[in-house]
Amino acid sequence: MSRKCYEKKPLLRKCATEGCLNTFVRTCGRHIYCRPCAESRDKKSHEKYRTANKKSIKLGKDRWRLDPSRREKLLKRYRNLMNKKYKDLEWRKKKNQRDAELKHLLKVEVLTRYGKGGVLLCCWRGCAVSDIDCLTLDHVRNNGKEHRASGASSGCRIYRIVKREGFPKGEYQTLCASHQLKKEIKRRRALRLDRGW
Ligand SMILES: [Zn+2]
Ligand SMILES: [Zn+2]
Repeated sequence: MSRKCYEKKPLLRKCATEGCLNTFVRTCGRHIYCRPCAESRDKKSHEKYRTANKKSIKLGKDRWRLDPSRREKLLKRYRNLMNKKYKDLEWRKKKNQRDAELKHLLKVEVLTRYGKGGVLLCCWRGCAVSDIDCLTLDHVRNNGKEHRASGASSGCRIYRIVKREGFPKGEYQTLCASHQLKKEIKRRRALRLDRGW
């Protein structure tokens, strides 16, 4: 988390692996692969490194084991650095701005994935709402209450969970706020008709 990193604008990008349709948010550096692709590539290179440098890896591990105070020292240094940073108002302002940008990009990414035809659109038939502020993620099977109770409490958290799960198909859809409401009204009306009063 260097200062320079915060000055770059995060971007929504497509994965560079052939045949991979994933998108990801690039915050800094030169990443060109989505997380699953990057992880599988990393795994391969780590394996290579591990077999080539067995001896020195063991040496480093022993050093940690024999001298636990090293960990404390490093942690203390890191905490001091972060404390200093949080006192820097300019840095905090930039961080908040950037966090807001990242949240926005995450929302765009998830809602595009579940939009009509993979576009940022409400999934209701004939609806053309594409304003990001009016769009929401809808639980197709109406199990949002249970989902929220199990930890997906806020919008941002749901988006993060959905992304981590690799965008499960058929579970969610993008709906505008009006059609979210309409769906709920229709559901309640059907319940009422079932009961007969
Ligand atoms: Zn990929
Ligand atoms: Zn709509």
